[in-house]
Amino acid sequence: MTQGPQGRPLLNRRLAAFGTTIFAEMSALAARTGSINLGQGFPDTDGPEEVREAAVRALRAGHGNQYPPGSGVPELRTAIAEHQQRWYGLTYDPDTEVLVTTGATEAVAAALLALLEPGDEVIALEPYYDSYAACIAMAGGSRVPVTLRPHEDGYALDLDELRAAVTPRTRLILLNTPHNPTGTVLTRAELAAVAALACERDLLVVTDEVYEHLVFEGEHIPLASFPGMRERTVTVSSAGKTFSFTGWKVGWITASQDLVAAVRSVKQFLTYVSGGPLQYAVAEALRLPDGYFDDLRADLRTKRDLLSSGLAEAGFGVFRPAGTYFVTTDIRPLGGGRDGFAFCRELPGRCGVVAIPNAVFYDHRDQGAPFVRFAFCKRTDVLAEAVSRLKSLSAH
Ligand code: PMP
Ligand code: GLN
Repeated sequence: MTQGPQGRPLLNRRLAAFGTTIFAEMSALAARTGSINLGQGFPDTDGPEEVREAAVRALRAGHGNQYPPGSGVPELRTAIAEHQQRWYGLTYDPDTEVLVTTGATEAVAAALLALLEPGDEVIALEPYYDSYAACIAMAGGSRVPVTLRPHEDGYALDLDELRAAVTPRTRLILLNTPHNPTGTVLTRAELAAVAALACERDLLVVTDEVYEHLVFEGEHIPLASFPGMRERTVTVSSAGKTFSFTGWKVGWITASQDLVAAVRSVKQFLTYVSGGPLQYAVAEALRLPDGYFDDLRADLRTKRDLLSSGLAEAGFGVFRPAGTYFVTTDIRPLGGGRDGFAFCRELPGRCGVVAIPNAVFYDHRDQGAPFVRFAFCKRTDVLAEAVSRLKSLSAH
């Protein structure tokens, strides 16, 4: 790290260890080598045309071109509240219990900065999405990973381990279901156990549910729907995954009035407000008929199957994901060792494909070493080409 004035590093020591995110590193590698990018999770086709048109209309009509309200435009807050009611039967007041954010990333950051005191412990499911660790560090908290254990069919949460991880210093559980990068969808029984633990130990929960509509097996059940949870849960979601507009960065939280007020206190000094015109378009997107959501899921299920079976044929161990648009693989059956980092750095040169080493999502790096994540939110022809390239790995 560059030394600055007074001989001190410029980046503060809370963040010094984080470096550049793996997503930026791997997307740059894909661009440099002209590889197929199955690393960073973004679709290679845009979301619905009518939603794009709604954004254009809003811009032209001058809706949201000046600072919108700090909580988000009323049209979007109402649509978010309606969405929670329509899909989950959860009632939130659009005026006091919904907050629009700049993507789920800001929602998680603002929630952690609002709810943590320095020294508070945060339990996160490992492997965890990379911004969690950085945001816990920014808030001065300390993370306590509970490792999801791989088995034949996928990954499982060890509820005894979760229970044992709670200490008198635990302030909150940071949950993510459907889970990136493993594709695990927590079951009703697992969620009920998390909820019971949170109530028993009087913990807050921030639950990142950005993949709520990308569930292929089982069902997505919001943690906030369990008894005693509405008052202690901040639910995070985003338009990025559900509507295939990851560049729009429109996210939100739903929570009780007090929790929203706390998170808003931070959000107002992070970004003040989030970009206006796209909020109107996302309001329309959230009201799309069920058919849109069904088609999205069906399309991604087909792509999941295409990539998962292709990876298995190419010699990878495959953990079939129940949700998200990622598939985690085990590289050990390929016979080249267990170093996912080295594997991902070499993969473009070997066959022109980019993937993400899951180890970056672990504190216990060794636990994640042999696992590599591939994204399947790509056109079918792109996935087919990637599979044919990956099959060449075992030919040499
Ligand atoms: N949480 C998880 C689990 C994610 O995979 C992502 C991916 N983008 C985000 C949060 C961030 O969402 P956004 O782009 O809306 O900030
Ligand atoms: N959520 C996406 C992923 O996991 C990308 C997010 C990002 O680039 N920060 O790949």
